[in-house]
Parts: sequence; structure tokens; C-alpha cells
Amino acid sequence: MTGKELIKYLEEWIPKAVAWQKDNVGLQVGNPARKVSGVLLCLELTEKTLKQALRQRCNFIFSHHPLLFQPLKSINTFNDKNSRLIELLIKNDLTLYSAHTNLDYAKDGVSFELAKTIGLSNIKFLKKLDSNQFKLVVFVPETHIDKVSEAIFNAGGGVIGEYKKCSFSASGSGTFEGSENSNPFTGNAGKFEKVNEIRIEVLVDSWKLKSVIAAMLKNHPYEEPAYDVYPLANENVNYGIGAIGEFEKPLSQKEFLELLEKKLGLQNFRYCSGSNNKIKTVAVCGGSGAEYINTAISANADAYITADVKYHSFQDAEGKILLIDAGHFETEIHSLKKVKKYIDDYLKTINLEIPVYAAKDSSNPIKFYKI
Ligand SMILES: [Zn+2]
Repeated sequence: MTGKELIKYLEEWIPKAVAWQKDNVGLQVGNPARKVSGVLLCLELTEKTLKQALRQRCNFIFSHHPLLFQPLKSINTFNDKNSRLIELLIKNDLTLYSAHTNLDYAKDGVSFELAKTIGLSNIKFLKKLDSNQFKLVVFVPETHIDKVSEAIFNAGGGVIGEYKKCSFSASGSGTFEGSENSNPFTGNAGKFEKVNEIRIEVLVDSWKLKSVIAAMLKNHPYEEPAYDVYPLANENVNYGIGAIGEFEKPLSQKEFLELLEKKLGLQNFRYCSGSNNKIKTVAVCGGSGAEYINTAISANADAYITADVKYHSFQDAEGKILLIDAGHFETEIHSLKKVKKYIDDYLKTINLEIPVYAAKDSSNPIKFYKI
């Protein structure tokens, strides 16, 4: 398996196209055509983690935070940490790949895994991503409805949440009159024709549109298939920010905070109390999610767990929602378990034994002075 093949598989789950526009996800350094000897997963690359990769013969490193975020002005390997890492990656034939906000915004990504780790069920996105979908409408003769629909589905069209192969069709009649140079599938050139046709409609994610249209055209019998592409204002139910779920039984504030400490392995954390002492519905956003505190309140969450929360945000939230700053590293690290499982499952299906490890050394720079 090459790095490129692994990346292709990862991006079926966490497409680059859903990432925040200013993010820099995908290949960071290295040659994706190289065969993968082992995979090392980390939140961010450090020299210690890179050395672990070398020790464990992993030449593909997956990091959540991109190494290359700001444009580089120079690569100074004398005193710049990132430059030194780039040098070590290249010298040792390593590939570094990053999935950042695309891992945040995907189902079973950072926030879903955080919600699962603390034991929530019935997990949904806290806020769905804005529209990035199209409606594809195509008119096909009755004989070709299955062939064209299958081609669209196989190319990734018609996915709505937990459902795939979603489409709507209705029958009607189409008309055409081909020129003398035409070669109509039914009827005759130069003659006005009326034929029964089926109108098929499907939702398509923007980044899949090109391949879905290509597959549809390839399988459509007409010389000039008629089709329409409409931009949609719908929220995309397949991708979103944060997650919200419920505990089976409500917990008291004390029980809830103790559970967080245990499940998330927290040494210490900051919080402010909410409006009541019973915690049942909980919203989460792994990493810096303070801007969604009001979204969590509007969703009737009793508590909201995120990181990088400012003093004034606590002040605004106090009395409205139990707000917890559980730490950036602590709210994101759990997602690597899911990344490992996703890659391991793939390796099993293709019968390949390639090790997938998690970074041993914590890259969290934050320490607690007194606990
Ligand atoms: Zn982060």
C-alpha cells in the first residue's frame, strides 16, 4: 500500500474539501508514492514522536495539527523547530500527512469520539456545516434508470446521513428533434419525437460532483443527456461542528465532573456552573470551541465541554450552562483511537499487516503547577 492509497482511503471518511477554507490539510512533507511500512498517529509532530516513528519503522506519520500552517519564509534548521522537523522527515524518507478540521467536522471525528469517550449516546452534530452540496437532476429513458442510478451511487452521489443510494424519481415525457447529424438513441434524426423518461434527483457533495457527473454521462445512453445541477442552501447533514448527546440517566454536577476527570484522564480543569444540577444533555467540541457556547445553550445542553475558553466566556455562560474547559490536547487525543481503528479495518480488508501505533510521548506543552 502506498501513502497515496492510504490517503485516498482516509479521505473517503474525512474529505479534504470539508476542512475550514484557511486550513492546510493533506500531505505536508514526503513522497506519497512510497510504500507504507508502518503508521504513527499523533496530535502534532514533535522530534520525540519522529524518533519513535524511526524506531518502530513507521514511514507514514498522521498528525491532527498540520506542521505547515503559515506559509514558510525560510527553512532554518539551526534554530527553528518546524524547519528541523522538515529536515528530519526528508532525510529519513518519512511522509507526514495531516487531517485537521476535516477530522473535526466528520462523523466519528474529534467531537464524536469525545462524546463517545465520556459515555454519551444518541450523538449528533451540534451544528451542521453550511451548504456545500448540489442537487443533480438527470432525465433517462425507463430502460436505463437502474444503470444510471447505480453509476451515480457508486461515484458517491445520494448520501444523506446514515443512508446511501438516496434518490427520487418521477416519470414524464420528454421531447426532442435531432439535426440531420444527430444519432438519437430512440426515434429518428430530423423528426420531432416524444419519449417516456424518468427524472432522477440526487444530492451530491460539492467535491464529488465532477466524478458523479462523469459516471452518469458514461452510463447514460443518450448522445446529449439532459441534466441540471442546482446549488443548494441546505445544511449538510453529513458533516458538522461539535457533537451533542445524552446520558442514559441524569448525573449531578459532582458526578458529571468526576466522570470527566476519569474518562478524559484530566489532571485539572476549569469550569463554571450552569442553571441546574442535573446533567443529561451534553454538547462537546474538541479543541477550541468557545464560539459555540451559545449554540450549545440554544440546543438545550445542560453542559458544554470544549477548550481554550476565555474568562469572559465563563462569565457569560455562568448560570446558563455548565461550561468546562477540559484542555485542547485532552479533548482531541481520543480521536486517534478512531483513526487507528479506521486504518486497521482497512488493512484487514486488504490483507496487509502494517503496524499502526499511537505516539507514546504526549505533545501537550501545558503542565499544572499544583494539583
Ligand atoms: Zn486542535
